[in-house]
Amino acid sequence: MTNTFEVKNPATGDILETITRDTPAQIAQKLQAGQEAFQSWKKTNAHHRANLLFKWSHLIQDHKEAIAEIMTKENGKPLAESLGEVDYATSYIDWYAEEAKRIYGRTIPTHADGKRLLVTKHPVGLVAAITPWNFPAAMMTRKAAPALAAGCTFIVKPAEETPLTTIRLAELAHEAGIPTDVMQCVNGRGRIVGEIFTDSPLVRKITFTGSTPVGKALIKQSADTVKSVTMELGGHAPVIVAEDADIDLAVAQTIVSKFRNAGQTCVCANRILVHESISDVFAAKLTEKTKELIVGNGLDDNVQVGPVINEDSYTKIVKQIDDALNKGASLLTGGTYDVNHEKGAFFVHPTVLANVSNEMEIMHEETFGPVAPLTTFTNLDEAIQIANDTPYGLAAYFFTDSYKVGNYLSENLDYGIIGWNDGATSAAHAPFGGMKESGLGREGGTEGLEPYLETKYISIGNFLE
Ligand code: NAP
Repeated sequence: MTNTFEVKNPATGDILETITRDTPAQIAQKLQAGQEAFQSWKKTNAHHRANLLFKWSHLIQDHKEAIAEIMTKENGKPLAESLGEVDYATSYIDWYAEEAKRIYGRTIPTHADGKRLLVTKHPVGLVAAITPWNFPAAMMTRKAAPALAAGCTFIVKPAEETPLTTIRLAELAHEAGIPTDVMQCVNGRGRIVGEIFTDSPLVRKITFTGSTPVGKALIKQSADTVKSVTMELGGHAPVIVAEDADIDLAVAQTIVSKFRNAGQTCVCANRILVHESISDVFAAKLTEKTKELIVGNGLDDNVQVGPVINEDSYTKIVKQIDDALNKGASLLTGGTYDVNHEKGAFFVHPTVLANVSNEMEIMHEETFGPVAPLTTFTNLDEAIQIANDTPYGLAAYFFTDSYKVGNYLSENLDYGIIGWNDGATSAAHAPFGGMKESGLGREGGTEGLEPYLETKYISIGNFLE
């Protein structure tokens, strides 16, 4: 097996850099170093760790333009989105720098005289992270920041499509004063690195963002050493547009949710369910706005939709579109492609499909591409049944100005994240994560720190007051 891999620009096929994979022996050495560094890092005080995290965040902001350019080149997303992702990534560092100072224990009123009962919080140990290509900065900081804040040491393996952003962020962490063995980066194939991480008793926690099948494999592999796991996996987000919805708002927010990052986000609108009484108007407006989107190289001015990440993604998207059209869907716009197989550049034009029905693949499989399938419903219970008819449970959206309808949908949708008249819900201070096969645990918010902490209960007898 070749020990190097090429990082390519998905918009042009140009080789950006050749990266050397770490060998298993080198990865084992890094795990050992991370475990040894944990012995001193866990003893640092919370304010010291917070200050280092703030320095890291400020350094990233100082290099914001350069980092965003790297991200656009390796991932393909428009430059404006990359700049936005840098802000989003540092918002996690800032939030957890503050949260580091709020890792409280507690005392429990005792059941017997002369006792004192204490609860204290401790870092879990060395944390190993595996991250995907679709948010190369934010998926790293959303894991690294709470881990470091808690007093854990951290090692990350980025996706081979987009390691450059992560490598740069790790360099800046070291420049900020975070010790090199406290924050480490490894490069290698996911399956091989994943096995080394999960087999090692030195790693006490695995945190993963990526596909559901890989997440399931990592959970199984983590069982032998009983590691703590946080899993942010796939999604298949429904959008429900109720009869009384503000249609222009619903269209605008659906566009944001569907076409950001060329539809390659786990919280992307994937199934758009519109009340039958407004479906024609909604479809016409969504189509009109979709046609306005500018497709191209994310470094070019005004581009709003970049390429999809690779040929496998492209093939899956085209297969879903073909399957829907063969089974009776109508193409309202898109369904066209700019492809350079030789160079490896694959653009899918934003596509809207109407008359989509339940037997089509697109209603059951995550698309991860810029395709908006429209279907209709007649009453809310039918919409809820369709929305919940999936093993996924990450994000769901709905549009209504009725508080009764909104509350009913919020209560009955089996999803970890709900957007009510809102297509862009994520924030560092809010919990992010899914139900069912979309994952385990939450990242962000106060919930996002807890998985990096162990709870210790100390019962003191013969306590003198
Ligand atoms: P993926 O194939 O699961 O890859 C994600 C990461 O896992 C990459 O670093 C990859 O490494 C690594 N990997 C691959 N096979 C592995 C294995 N057997 N053991 C350990 N690691 C392995 O997912 P993807 O297709 O790149 O990313 C898209 C998926 O991520 C979608 O399903 C999406 O919904 C999900 N996602 C979820 C969230 C969330 O927060 N819930 C956020 C973003 C994306 P290499 O590819 O470098 O070998």
